[in-house]
Amino acid sequence: MQSLIMSGSKEAVRAAANEFVQFVNKGVSPYHVVEECRRRLLEAGFIELKEAEKWEIKPTSKYFLTRNFSSLIAFAVGGCYRPGNGFSMIGAHTDSPCLRVKPRSKKTKQGCLQVGVECYGGGIWNTWFDRDLTIAGRVMVKSEGKLMHRLVHVPRPLLRIPHLAIHLQRDINDSFGPNKENHLVPIIATAVQEELETGSASSGDACSAATTAEKHHPALVTVLCSELGVEPQSLLDFELCLADTQPAALGGVYQEFIYSPRLDNLHSCYCALQGLVESCSGDSLANDTNVRMITLYDNEEVGSESAQGAQSNLTELILSRLSSSSSNLTAFQQAAPLSFMISADMAHAVHPNYQEKHDENHRPAFHKGPVIKFNSNQRYATTAVTASVIREVAGQVGVPLQDVMVRNDSPCGTTIGPILAARLGIPVVDIGAPQLSMHSIREMCCTSSVLQSTTLFKGFFELFPSVRSTLVVD
Ligand code: ZN
Repeated sequence: MQSLIMSGSKEAVRAAANEFVQFVNKGVSPYHVVEECRRRLLEAGFIELKEAEKWEIKPTSKYFLTRNFSSLIAFAVGGCYRPGNGFSMIGAHTDSPCLRVKPRSKKTKQGCLQVGVECYGGGIWNTWFDRDLTIAGRVMVKSEGKLMHRLVHVPRPLLRIPHLAIHLQRDINDSFGPNKENHLVPIIATAVQEELETGSASSGDACSAATTAEKHHPALVTVLCSELGVEPQSLLDFELCLADTQPAALGGVYQEFIYSPRLDNLHSCYCALQGLVESCSGDSLANDTNVRMITLYDNEEVGSESAQGAQSNLTELILSRLSSSSSNLTAFQQAAPLSFMISADMAHAVHPNYQEKHDENHRPAFHKGPVIKFNSNQRYATTAVTASVIREVAGQVGVPLQDVMVRNDSPCGTTIGPILAARLGIPVVDIGAPQLSMHSIREMCCTSSVLQSTTLFKGFFELFPSVRSTLVVD
């Protein structure tokens, strides 16, 4: 029983979960996710490439590149790889629903200095009330004639969206539907305190502001500038996410849960990265005929249609570049059917208080393994063939799997899986770890899911070419 559900000793499960917690705490915005992946890849001996440069790719070597600093592709070239061979790929997304600072954010009401925010993706916005929020993201700064991209993350609570007291809205427990424009505006300071601290009140309206510094309250600009070590006039523009300051933690009486922001989908990003890095630590890469690759995209939560999203040309350009060969002009076309992608994104565990929301035969549970997602209407890309391949890999590495399909009377989410299957013509399986509270500011999954997914992904990289060679479908 122990080995069936946990796939590993209690200590190994706990250690993997703790390492993920470190990762998710650093990944406060898509830019920070990419930066943390970059740091880990460099540490593991991967070489950074630039799309704009000419590459010299060598067998058994490991590389990565970023686009917009919010998407990342990393790959390790098998020792026996030839153009025309397949790609063993795992895709996931770096973004999560969040509130983002508007381009002109300065608002003042009733003596409160407030920051206008935009809703990014489909968050459960009422979970953003009464949380201790901060800001994180990237800022464009002009320094010595150069326009530079800088990351910023203020490590203390700066902002809060307070609930209206129940005494003033007696029906809040029956129906709480905040207006996303009027009610989701965080407070950063009071005008009184601002005047006390700075000697002058925040003045001027954001509409007529000319410079970036004037479009936002000085309180916000000052904290940004002091984090970055720059003057207000050097701020050009920014993409700043609001983030909860409460770090992720293990929980439950047996510490079997992870309570965390952004599980969707940093859990998959982390396990894909870890699976790739670990698969390269043995000698299996030297004998691999494929390229092992992880593709982590921004903008999945808003439909993937951007220069750095899964709908972009990024993946196709990289795959065709790695397949290019002067002696075989159809190498790229030959590679697609030999390739395979795991589209890794979180799955809905059955909720004990809402069990009827899942079909009785498709109720993924904690600890029982990654979940294969099926939907013939192509909200997920899984086919019988791709599910069989992943079951074969999972069987060989001892990771249990679960199946899910939504009820016919229920809406269904979707993933990057169908997008990439259509764009690339590569077989895709949709799979993900079970979680609760998806798209809440604080989500929940089980500790064993980290080791299970990492083991499965590592096994996939090591075993896919041999499993593929047993597949008789062409
Ligand atoms: Zn997701």
